[in-house]
Amino acid sequence: MFIHIKRINQARVTPSAPLCLFTFIALLALSVLAPVSSSSPANFDKPLHDVEIDWFYMNTFPLVDLWGPVSVWTLLIFITVSLTLLPFIPWPARNRLATAVVDPEYCNGCGWCATDCPFEAIQMGQHEMRKNRRQAFVTTDACVSCGICVGSCPSVTPFKSVHKSDTGIAMPDSDTTAILTNIRKRVVSTKSEKPILLFGCAHGTDVSRFENQDVVTQQFECLGQLPPSYIDFLCRKENISKVLLTGCATGNCYQRLGNEIEAERIARNRYPHLRYLDARKKVEQLWVGAGREDNIQRKIEEARCDRKLAS
Ligand code: SF4
Ligand code: SF4
Repeated sequence: MFIHIKRINQARVTPSAPLCLFTFIALLALSVLAPVSSSSPANFDKPLHDVEIDWFYMNTFPLVDLWGPVSVWTLLIFITVSLTLLPFIPWPARNRLATAVVDPEYCNGCGWCATDCPFEAIQMGQHEMRKNRRQAFVTTDACVSCGICVGSCPSVTPFKSVHKSDTGIAMPDSDTTAILTNIRKRVVSTKSEKPILLFGCAHGTDVSRFENQDVVTQQFECLGQLPPSYIDFLCRKENISKVLLTGCATGNCYQRLGNEIEAERIARNRYPHLRYLDARKKVEQLWVGAGREDNIQRKIEEARCDRKLAS
């Protein structure tokens, strides 16, 4: 259990009560309908003739008869040593995104990023620049570059009057300030007075294909990278009619918790959350996973109808 959940934050190890109850009842029913009987008591006066092989624990025993014990032991030792060494083999570097980077100057030590990181890649420690303050530190080996921590950081907000692009934590390959500027540019250049915003993730349905005259799209590595303050800001500053969020299916997030975390921020159950009610009314979520263009198209059509009715 320790090894399985070593690098997983907020691991759920206890099944839900209904599942526990169902399992208990099912096992109870099975034990009545098909009870497992033990062998008869040992009788040391009688010679032992047939011993049945337990195929689960003794599956290599038939091989001993076929190949001999030395060959089987050699094979088993080879497999065990190979599996033990597997994590230490230096594979060629994957073409992966850069990991999260903390800027101590703008980290206030709140710890929200450490709480939300699904891979335990952030630890809190003594601040490098301020006495008696905490600071986030990223373990780069554990970071999968999902960007969820950026969506969690209160310093990633366009409502700041100074140092707008300086944040406590950032993804070097995905500059949120540049993304926001780019979205605003595209919103202004749409032909619609009240465009629809569509945010998606790299592991859900590709949203870029829906970009057109009245839909502006943006894809993140994980939708958990989207700070709720960006939705507030865009709804306040631009004439947005609807904000659609889509990504991995519920309970099946590629980055473990990105869609759940974002949904909780929108529902104001988790910090940082949406501040303005008008923005909240415009947000709709569609956690359906990849290849669900039809669902997204339907949502866009509904958003267009709502816009028409409201005008
Ligand atoms: S990018 Fe993802 S894995 Fe890396 S520190 Fe941030 S939340 Fe954790
Ligand atoms: S959420 Fe931002 S400000 Fe808070 S500890 Fe993490 S990096 Fe620092």
